[in-house]
Amino acid sequence: MTDPGRTLLALDFDGTLAPIVQDPASAWIHPGSLAALRRLGPVLRELTIITGRPVDQVRRLGRFEDGPGLDRMVVCGQYGAERWDAASGEVRQPHRPQAVSDLAARLPQWLEEHDASRIRIEDKGLAIALHTRGVAPGLLDELRPQIEALAAEVGLHLEPGRQVIELRSAGTDKGQTLRRVVGRVEPGAVIYAGDDLGDLPAFEEGIALREQGMDVTLVCSASDEQDALLALADVVLDGPDAVAAWLGDLADRFAPA
Ligand SMILES: [Mg+2]
Repeated sequence: MTDPGRTLLALDFDGTLAPIVQDPASAWIHPGSLAALRRLGPVLRELTIITGRPVDQVRRLGRFEDGPGLDRMVVCGQYGAERWDAASGEVRQPHRPQAVSDLAARLPQWLEEHDASRIRIEDKGLAIALHTRGVAPGLLDELRPQIEALAAEVGLHLEPGRQVIELRSAGTDKGQTLRRVVGRVEPGAVIYAGDDLGDLPAFEEGIALREQGMDVTLVCSASDEQDALLALADVVLDGPDAVAAWLGDLADRFAPA
C-alpha cells in the first residue's frame, strides 16, 4: 500500500469536494469529504486544494478552520496565483492586473450591448467570471466568439468551465501549480481529483509525472456537463457524493480508527 506519509493529495474544490449549486456563494464542502479530510490531514505528506476560486472563499466554504486535522493544509487559489498555508496563516496574493480592472469597468455595458445582462458577473480580484447557471443557460456558448474577441482585446486569457467563463491573466494553470507543489513537497505518490476543463492541465501534469516514475492516481468527479477528464482518469466517481465516499475509504486505509 502507498505510504500516506509520502502521499500528496491535491484536490479541486467546486464539483469535486463541493456540489455545484445555483449560488456559488453557498457551495459548501460535502460534510463527508470534510470528515474524511480531517482524518487524512494529519497522516498525509500534504493536503493541497487547487481551485479556480479565491483563497478566502474556499477557506470559508471548506470550513477548514472550524475543526481539527487541517492545520498543515495548503490552498492554492485562482489556479495557484494565490496561496494560503494553514501552518503559517500566511496568504500570498499578487496585485490585481490593470487589464482585469479595465474589464470590470467595461463589462456591465458590454453585456447590455450584447443583450446579455442576465449573465452574472463575479469579480474575483485577479479574474472576472461570467456565470449563466440558472439565469441564462447556453448564452455563453452563443456569445463565445464575442467573448473571445473581448478577451483578446483587453489582453486576458479565457478559462471556460461548467456554465462559467473566466477572463484572467495567462500564466498560471492547475498543471503548473501542481508541478510547483510537487517540486516543493517531493512526494512519493500523488493523488489528484477534479471535475472540469480547468483540471485538464493538472491531469496532463499528472501523466507527465507518471512517465517520470511517480506513483500517480487521477480521479475524475464526473458530471453530465463535462467529459474531458474521463479518458485520462484512473478512477471515475459520480460527482461530489461519490468523491466523499471515496475519500472516506481512503481515510479508512490511511488513517484507520
Ligand atoms: Mg471544479
